[in-house]
Amino acid sequence: MTLRLFGCVCGQFHGSAEGMGMAGTGPVSVPVPFYVLEHPDGVALFDCGLPAGMVDYDDSYRQALRATDIDASLTPEETATRHLERLDIDPARVRQVVVSHLHFDHVGGLREFPNAEVVIQRREWEAGFDRETAGHYGLRKRFFDLGHAVRLVDGEHDLFGDGSAVCLPSYGHTPGHQSLRVRSAQGDHILVADACYNCRVAETRSFPDYSDAEAMNRSLDALLALREAATVMVYGHDPDQWGERPVLPAARS
Ligand SMILES: [Zn+2]
Repeated sequence: MTLRLFGCVCGQFHGSAEGMGMAGTGPVSVPVPFYVLEHPDGVALFDCGLPAGMVDYDDSYRQALRATDIDASLTPEETATRHLERLDIDPARVRQVVVSHLHFDHVGGLREFPNAEVVIQRREWEAGFDRETAGHYGLRKRFFDLGHAVRLVDGEHDLFGDGSAVCLPSYGHTPGHQSLRVRSAQGDHILVADACYNCRVAETRSFPDYSDAEAMNRSLDALLALREAATVMVYGHDPDQWGERPVLPAARS
């Protein structure tokens, strides 16, 4: 069995494009994807979506978000655990959760995988525990400081040791953001995460206010330069990639 890659949508954000730092204007709904890597050596995730507690409209953090004019929605069928169950993967079998960065829509599901090792860039993890940096970038410990085993990596990291999944540092959105290149039965994908929200941002280079625009431009240029003829870029929150014809399957065919 070679590596298999699945893409799952774990909720949506709703708000103005400008308010969420997306390209374009007006109200938009954007997906919150995460990824399942089924490798002969074990199951890993790349990110893990929104916190399952957000299924509840009155969840305290969801309320706090609404106060900033962004709502998040999450149905019981969209939680990370439910997606894995549909794939017939026991969540307890998830050995590693590779984290692109510490925003709650990427680490929110960590609570559902207490036995997994978190794989993260050292500088992102350290940023999460630096009061000033964490405040600036909105890295909230309640979503990630949960007692997991943590593997801190510096730069590129070959997840399974066979080149099938390689962490690529793509700093700028947050101090230690990383992307993941996956060569699987589904082809060659660069899971860009929030180094670029959607394909239009790859052109407009409109980034969120808090991010380091210079570093983001450098990181995005580097990621785009890695493309080969058949490489598919999977962006962080791109509605066009998760509509009727999702860029990656969420189920076994
Ligand atoms: Zn995000």
